[in-house]
Amino acid sequence: MPTPDQLKQLRSLPQVEEMLRQPALAAMTAALPRTLVVDQTRAQIDELRGRVLAGDEVDLSCEAVATSVVSRLRRLCSPSLRRAVNASGVIVHTNLGRSVLPEPAVQAVLDVARGYSTLEYDVHELRRGSRHDHYEALVCAVTGAEAAIAVNNNAAAVMMVLSEFAQGREVVVSRGELVEIGGSFRVPDIMRASGADMVEVGTTNKTHGFDYERAITERTALLMKVHPSNYRLTGFVEDVSVQGLRAIADAAGTARASGPVLVYEDLGSGALVDITAADLHEATVSDVLSSGADLVSFSCDKLLGGPQAGIIVGRREAIARLKKNPLARVLRLDKLSIAALEATLRLYLREDNVRRQIPTVRMLDADEVEVTARAERLKQRLDAVLSPADGITAIEREVARAGGGALPMCDIPTTVVALDLKRGSALGCERYLSAENPVPIVARIRSERVLFDALTLLSDDELDEVAQGVRRYFAGLGSEEPR
Ligand SMILES: *Cc1c(COP(=O)(O)O)cnc(C)c1O
Repeated sequence: MPTPDQLKQLRSLPQVEEMLRQPALAAMTAALPRTLVVDQTRAQIDELRGRVLAGDEVDLSCEAVATSVVSRLRRLCSPSLRRAVNASGVIVHTNLGRSVLPEPAVQAVLDVARGYSTLEYDVHELRRGSRHDHYEALVCAVTGAEAAIAVNNNAAAVMMVLSEFAQGREVVVSRGELVEIGGSFRVPDIMRASGADMVEVGTTNKTHGFDYERAITERTALLMKVHPSNYRLTGFVEDVSVQGLRAIADAAGTARASGPVLVYEDLGSGALVDITAADLHEATVSDVLSSGADLVSFSCDKLLGGPQAGIIVGRREAIARLKKNPLARVLRLDKLSIAALEATLRLYLREDNVRRQIPTVRMLDADEVEVTARAERLKQRLDAVLSPADGITAIEREVARAGGGALPMCDIPTTVVALDLKRGSALGCERYLSAENPVPIVARIRSERVLFDALTLLSDDELDEVAQGVRRYFAGLGSEEPR
């Protein structure tokens, strides 16, 4: 029940008609459809009603409500998904769109977006072609696989493999590999959703070959390995390699009436080449295939450095079955992603292109001297816009991350510019740069200072944007008293 005070507040909520006469909103109805302004005004009044009932302190004056409606309308009319500056030092940042596309991929996307394209048209035969043809031969050339299919993302790839090969059958997986990645991808959940029966073996830290051997029955479809991308076990740890699983599957398969047992690895970040970053030692897709996996799936926007997609590679017959699965249609890639994927994969044909042209790989493998030089240039630009009364900057060595919930734990040495504020606050500055600056800038805070990581700043234009953002923050503080 609302309190008497709340009832009084509810009665004083402005009416829609009354609001529309406010000069600020009347101006909006001149530029935008009236129904849009009416709807947003009503939505704002509804929101205020909810907040009054929740006991919040709210300003119900017509002017204040009009200001909120105007900012609702402005938000609706301006882009929400837009470029951001990543000064966080996290290279594959899931919240910031993971990998930055290589320039040839950007060009390919623009080209295909602007006109009609050969998406499913075979130009030699003058008839219908397949969208898989644009990338499949490239994936095979780079990984040594017999065949490949790309879908929406790696989660979709896992779902499709389990659903095609293990629906109503059993999948044996180690308890040490029942991971959760990024909050919404959990191995047991995807297993259930695909209709496969999960058979857990081993313990959290140790799983042996005999654990898998004992678990195999006539209903076993797959022995599955999952890359523990975002955590690391140390100490008394043991798992069974793909090679080990291959031997177990072969031994069991020949003795079974229900035929062979397949070996499948969800490899997660999917490195296509050796990336010799700091302490990153990832098996490549071709390593896993040559160790004997029948199927391997991986993401295209993590270590591979391409667009959001997931690829499944493996034996020709197995991939042919996947292409016929109804999920192939449900989870298929659109033309823009295929354009970006094809162009990114083509860079892998030449090793020197990979490090030069794929931003994610370049950053993982960054030259420390270059990163430090970029930090020095950022410091100069910041010092040029800051007065000593605003704050002081310092160059510091730091540790960057390959990627929050997406990549193997790995520390990458980096250089940051630390801004120690004498006016305003680190939190206020961080908020301003993210929410108010024309281009959102994402930094991090450490010990009351704002850190700008030079590793993930992509160009000198971005260094200027950071400096201008910081300048605007202090200008916005006006002549407020120093702290
Ligand atoms: C990242 C990851 C996934 C999910 O891949 P998306 O491309 O984000 O859908 C699945 N499994 C593993 C092991 C991963 O690392």
